[in-house]
Amino acid sequence: MIEDGKVVRFHYILRDEQGDEIERSAEDTPMTYLHGANNIIPGLEAALSGKTEGDELDVTVTPEQGYGESDDSMHQRISAKYLRHAGKLRPGMQVPVQTDDGQRWVTVIKVGLKTVDVDANHPLAGKTLNFHISISEVRDASDEEKAHGHAHGPGGHQH
Ligand code: ZN
Repeated sequence: MIEDGKVVRFHYILRDEQGDEIERSAEDTPMTYLHGANNIIPGLEAALSGKTEGDELDVTVTPEQGYGESDDSMHQRISAKYLRHAGKLRPGMQVPVQTDDGQRWVTVIKVGLKTVDVDANHPLAGKTLNFHISISEVRDASDEEKAHGHAHGPGGHQH
């Protein structure tokens, strides 16, 4: 049974509120995480708690329990030189940006001559998420995994 200190592997299909698919886990590599360690969004972790190997479930996650609300102050106009992207920028593209805190991904909103308007919110911020989950494995975490706060092995953290 899934509880704190278990490593869980699961396949998922993520759809938006309209039922359109956003993404799914790779067929040969289920998502792998350490339960109770904030490895995944809170709404999903709560729904998986108490479930077991072989279970399938549909979970609706609100923005508050997912990637947060979309924040307009995260819309910024930046100089194009900070964008690390080869080729033509188009609205909707996800591109890496160099910031004082390292690299982060933003979504292009509008492309100007020397500036680019970007949205630095998480791409799934503000969205209600519908997951279809199928749990493929539940096992005890190793002491090392517990100490690191994440799962090791395929689909998990690779050192
Ligand atoms: Zn580790």
